[in-house]
Amino acid sequence: MRTLIAGNWKMNGSRAMLAELDRIAEAAAGTPAIDVAIAPPFTLLGEAVGHAGPVAIGGQDCHQVAQGAHTGCIAAPMLVEMGARFVICGHSERRAEFGEIDSLVRAKAEAAQTSGLLAIVCIGEDEPGRDRGQAAMAVTAELEGSVPPTSTAANLVISYEPAWAIGTGRTPTMAEIAEMHGLIRARLIQLLGEQGRGVRILYGGSVTPDNAAAILACAEVNGALIGGASLSADRFVPIVRAAANLAR
Ligand code: PEP
Repeated sequence: MRTLIAGNWKMNGSRAMLAELDRIAEAAAGTPAIDVAIAPPFTLLGEAVGHAGPVAIGGQDCHQVAQGAHTGCIAAPMLVEMGARFVICGHSERRAEFGEIDSLVRAKAEAAQTSGLLAIVCIGEDEPGRDRGQAAMAVTAELEGSVPPTSTAANLVISYEPAWAIGTGRTPTMAEIAEMHGLIRARLIQLLGEQGRGVRILYGGSVTPDNAAAILACAEVNGALIGGASLSADRFVPIVRAAANLAR
């Protein structure tokens, strides 16, 4: 299974940031054993494709239908036309800020897959859930509710992102990450059969150049989804290199 290191620029970035992408693309060209991806804001998507080299460019969200009267929304086929290869579905910020529930996330992921995009489906418990000892239950419920029946190892990636670890500088312990990824793998196999064995499971939440190697070495961690540290090549490229070293 190829490791995937994906960056999510969120609502950050102007054309000047494409210079960071140039440097990330150069590094990715030197690490052909792993996959590298960046999700810039929609406004930069088309231009980013021209700077990406081997880096896959994708969207941070898509609508669940292919076209129509949905002001302000972007459909999966529009992303495809711009050169996108993946889309992030159900990021915890979309779940929290825009009330996206599992059934909507599943519909968006299915729309992405039907259009030929890889769907990166995000799941993860919030802090009160973890404090109550209900992290595993919450993650399992989100997984079951958010994974579309059209999923295969080729068109689905799961990103386990505890909401309390995103942008906070806090991470679970390595044992906790391995335990949750093991649980997600087991449930994916129940849901998707053999295909579930090949679905990549990323970890997301305060991944930095300092902790990347340890996190990526955990059992059933097949890559990372990175927010803050993906905004500069100086921080993102060492994570790409750490992943490439482990993939050797
Ligand atoms: C994210 O937003 O998916 C994320 C993991 O952010 P950060 O790396 O900044 O915690």
